[in-house]
Amino acid sequence: MGDRQQTLKQSFSIQGEALHSGKMVTMTLIPQPEDTGIRFCRSDLPGKPVLPARPEHVIDTNRCTTIGDGTWRVRTIEHLMAALHGLGVDNLLVEVEGDELPMGDGSAWFFAQAILETGLETQAKPRRIRKITAPVWVENRNSPRSYLLALPGDQLHISYFFTSDNSSVGNQFYQLTVTPETFQKELASARTIAFTYEIEALRWQGLARGGNFDVAVVVGEEGYLNDLRFPDEIARHKILDILGDLYLLGPVTGTIIGIRSGHKMDLDLVLRLMENIR
Ligand SMILES: [Zn+2]
Repeated sequence: MGDRQQTLKQSFSIQGEALHSGKMVTMTLIPQPEDTGIRFCRSDLPGKPVLPARPEHVIDTNRCTTIGDGTWRVRTIEHLMAALHGLGVDNLLVEVEGDELPMGDGSAWFFAQAILETGLETQAKPRRIRKITAPVWVENRNSPRSYLLALPGDQLHISYFFTSDNSSVGNQFYQLTVTPETFQKELASARTIAFTYEIEALRWQGLARGGNFDVAVVVGEEGYLNDLRFPDEIARHKILDILGDLYLLGPVTGTIIGIRSGHKMDLDLVLRLMENIR
């Protein structure tokens, strides 16, 4: 990643089904001036309200990351945020005609591919990288042995430990130093995990209505129900989610270690990091 801020060369729109609502949504990515950061806009609402993608605007972390202000929201921002963090897009307005981003293929590849085809524009000002200055960790009292740690470091390095009682899935570990190259090659196309027993429960809650077998690693009693893109795809996707949620702080350097963590702990860590980042 270069030292200077970047935006897109030009605007583009993409359309797709939303994971939780099952509706078709159109999203338009619009280049922005330096120092404006990433902002989300509900272009289908009167007055087109806008919020910066900042930790204080996150209103929900149940299964996905949602920003909003109590009167409107945009759900499932994390995979687009991961693509922006991974590829180094600093300034962008994301207009969404609905309350959720399109899910694409369930990974960040849908977004990354469209951004790379459009091209990045290097801007004059230097990128403001946030450095983790002291060790910080969070845990989840409802999920034993789940931790998320952040340590100082000159690059962004993320490790993740995934554990499962399911014998086909087993335990998985993955780690990498995030650069635009490693992001595209190793992370962008990793999809989320869905257990068949969870899919029913999620639909009961009105979530995951748009999901199908292609947009997730689906696991049943007997093991994987579809083909994997990586043997450790689940651990890689967890790193993708962390990368996206961390981008609520802007570009970050440091070492992150996730152990059985999820979106809620990502946000807890991000909030703690606000006091320990420079
Ligand atoms: Zn995810």
